[in-house]
Amino acid sequence: MRLSRYFLPVLKETPAEAQIASHRLMLRAGMIRQQAAGIYSWLPLGLRVLRRIEQVVHEEQARAGHIPVLMPTLQPADLWRESARYDDYGQEMLRIRDRHERDLLYGPTNEEMITDIFRAHVGSYRDLPLTLYQIQWKFRDEIRPRFGVMRGREFLMKDGYTFDIDREAALHAYNRHMVSYLRTYERLGLTAIPMRADSGPIGGDDTHEFLVLAQTGESEVFYDDRVTALKLGSRDIDYDDRAGVADVCREFTSLYARTDETHDPAAFEAVPEAQRKVGRGIEVGQIFYFGTKYSEPMGATVATPDGTRVPVHMGSHGIGVSRLVGAIIEASHDDRGIVWPEGVTPFPVGVVNVKQGDIAADSTCAGICNALAARGLEPLYDDRDERAGAKFATMDLIGLPWRITVGPRGLATGKVELSCRRTGHAEDLTPEAAVARVVQIFGHG
Ligand code: ATP
Ligand code: MG
Repeated sequence: MRLSRYFLPVLKETPAEAQIASHRLMLRAGMIRQQAAGIYSWLPLGLRVLRRIEQVVHEEQARAGHIPVLMPTLQPADLWRESARYDDYGQEMLRIRDRHERDLLYGPTNEEMITDIFRAHVGSYRDLPLTLYQIQWKFRDEIRPRFGVMRGREFLMKDGYTFDIDREAALHAYNRHMVSYLRTYERLGLTAIPMRADSGPIGGDDTHEFLVLAQTGESEVFYDDRVTALKLGSRDIDYDDRAGVADVCREFTSLYARTDETHDPAAFEAVPEAQRKVGRGIEVGQIFYFGTKYSEPMGATVATPDGTRVPVHMGSHGIGVSRLVGAIIEASHDDRGIVWPEGVTPFPVGVVNVKQGDIAADSTCAGICNALAARGLEPLYDDRDERAGAKFATMDLIGLPWRITVGPRGLATGKVELSCRRTGHAEDLTPEAAVARVVQIFGHG
């Protein structure tokens, strides 16, 4: 992508309304524009990151055997009357009336609708287990939308719903989700710690939240520091192996890690003092097992092998897709701007031409861009007629993890510079070697 033809409305000034780094940087880097309190347009750079996160979420859900669907944002109120949540949900629910005086709502979550789909089409234990999920916009009329996309009113969520014949099978679905979420967050460059949580208006017994440690997080967290070192890494997971999946969950939930809602001071005291940490965290996901809370009132039953009908056991599992954009920036930025992890970066590499119009520099840049694009790595090429310093500042602000800098001085000895945004480390390489390195880093061999 040539920057001269792109739409990247970066701001020079620091927006006064933004209180935390991720909000400031998303506005400054031209990723989003606020249209109303807690409601945002996603501009091209922001949209690229959002789409990358969605892609990672989809891939990890597919790996776990979960099936994508797409439900509407608007829902009939009658479905929510069946579960009695239409009245319970309160002011966070945006209620709408259509021209025929029918009550609708903009979905804050989808348990009722998915239960309706299930009861219409599934009737036997033979069709189980089943997990359906979507990535769809939600609306919650938050009393205090703030911190940009972190606490929006309209926000993008991955919400998955599990259907199983009994509690034991449903808990396997719960564990499968925990592991698939751990993988997802790791691929996004994040350490997200599962913490036992309160179930709130979704209801249920078993629930964990996933928290990314950050000083600007809204939740107070108490944890054993050793939990931050746990990694799934590249280990193979067989999602059908109940015992194996449960072992992974045990590994990640045995050390103390709680939010203020579930904190147990006595149990915390048992953690060795040197490992005891109190901090703040951003909730980037939550998993729930809630049994028959919706299937019973809504009549979602399945036939068992002996012919009787039982309400299906359900769980619901959410990832805050749009909040993750902010959370990743909170976890990865410096005073010059964003530092994208390779797994979500909007472009893998920036190409900076320090002397636009110089024949050798122009043609070397073009060659590098073509070679990268041929390997499936589309660079952002700053071909504007700007000073080198301004180009570097833009690249630093938007946070591409790698930069190839091309100028007449280096080209005199046949070299360009490959530099790393995170470490600042720079190396002079031939254009071919620089491309090969980037290809290697992104594993596009
Ligand atoms: P919170 O406690 O932060 O209000 P929640 O527990 O009500 O969130 P869930 O119902 O668990 O939210 O939704 C699943 C995920 O959706 C959350 O873990 C969070 O990452 C994301 N999310 C929830 N509310 C918002 C919001 N207002 N803006 C952006 N993301 C949100
Ligand atoms: Mg939650």
